[in-house]
Amino acid sequence: MAPMTSSARRPLLNRRLTEFGTTIFAEMSALALSTGSLNLGQGFPDTDGPEELREAAVRALREGRGNQYPPGPGVPELRAAITAHQQRRYGLAYDPDTEVLVTAGATEAIAAALLALVEPGDEVIALEPYYDSYAACIAMAGGRRVPVTLRPHQGPDGPVFRLDLDELRDAVTGRTRLLLINTPHNPTGTVLNRTELAAIAELAVERDLLVVTDEVYEHLVFDGAEHVPLASFPGMRERTIGIGSAGKSFSYTGWKVGWVTGTAALVTAVRSAKQFLTYVASGPFQYAVAEGLALPESFFEGLRKDFTRKRDLLADGLRDAGFSVFRPAGTYFVTADVRPLGESDGFAFCRALPERAGVVAIPNAVFYDHREMGAPFVRFAFCKRVEVLEEAVRRLKGLSRTGV
Ligand SMILES: *Cc1c(COP(=O)(O)O)cnc(C)c1O
Repeated sequence: MAPMTSSARRPLLNRRLTEFGTTIFAEMSALALSTGSLNLGQGFPDTDGPEELREAAVRALREGRGNQYPPGPGVPELRAAITAHQQRRYGLAYDPDTEVLVTAGATEAIAAALLALVEPGDEVIALEPYYDSYAACIAMAGGRRVPVTLRPHQGPDGPVFRLDLDELRDAVTGRTRLLLINTPHNPTGTVLNRTELAAIAELAVERDLLVVTDEVYEHLVFDGAEHVPLASFPGMRERTIGIGSAGKSFSYTGWKVGWVTGTAALVTAVRSAKQFLTYVASGPFQYAVAEGLALPESFFEGLRKDFTRKRDLLADGLRDAGFSVFRPAGTYFVTADVRPLGESDGFAFCRALPERAGVVAIPNAVFYDHREMGAPFVRFAFCKRVEVLEEAVRRLKGLSRTGV
């Protein structure tokens, strides 16, 4: 018998990552396939974005732009387009040569920012429920995540999730290194308003914290809700890393073009980690995204209008099917409460839903450390064709009749 090596007695996956072994998305997507269900689980559009961007990518490929390693910080055309976009929309001025970094999607931007800025043992405060990569990246950086939970409230137009600013303040300790903020917020659809953002900014300045702010849904806000970048508040420019992505704004999630904006010192730090993750990515697509960011405001208005219609279709359908619905002010997700249907466990509900109704959703509990707080909530994506959403709504209508 071969001698037991020390590595054979050790689990393969290191202990920083053991809790992240499998994702619910794989399980649910497999269920969608095996049952022929409509997959409203994972958040990617089922149609491509603007034709002119696809053509721009083809042109870049044909003309040999970006087919070899692009410059480490990103191609100059895209860096200029990102800074022009931040200036035009938000009045934020960044130097395209030193204060912008193009990344392999927002996912790499998040990973690089955390790996660059967090020392082992540092505490990182994240809004709970959180995007699934946050917990894994904090863990890879050796940080400790400290969740601050968005809580359900009865608003004037129905239930919403809100940040409790006192809870956020109380979560800051002497070991807090940074706040990881996400607005518009996935999965709740909450868009932090100016008052909340101002309070977060004051706290960050007072306690001298860094802020990483994931704003990938900046263009997907509805009903007059306004996205305001945290970097635009007093004292915030010098401590904020803003993250954007072409995937969500232009419906090309496979292109993996994201970016970071911040002071030269912050961007240089993030780049130190980024250069050893992918080094560079998405060459030809960077040119196409540069054209996308320069599209006229009518494009972004059209996007919001299209998604508002889809949100209403799905949110109204879920309400009619018996759910309590958190109508999102931003993103392309709706969170719904299953309790009015006589259910209490979102996990069990989502595992049974493909068989019961031919639809796949994601249990929000997977986005929580305090799983019990997310237990009754499930998330549906509405970045799908109208016919698909209409069919999903039709199928879900039968739910109350198939309940046990
Ligand atoms: C989709 C998403 C990302 C990842 O964006 P990519 O550009 O596809 O890497 C990051 N944060 C949030 C909140 C998201 O929903």
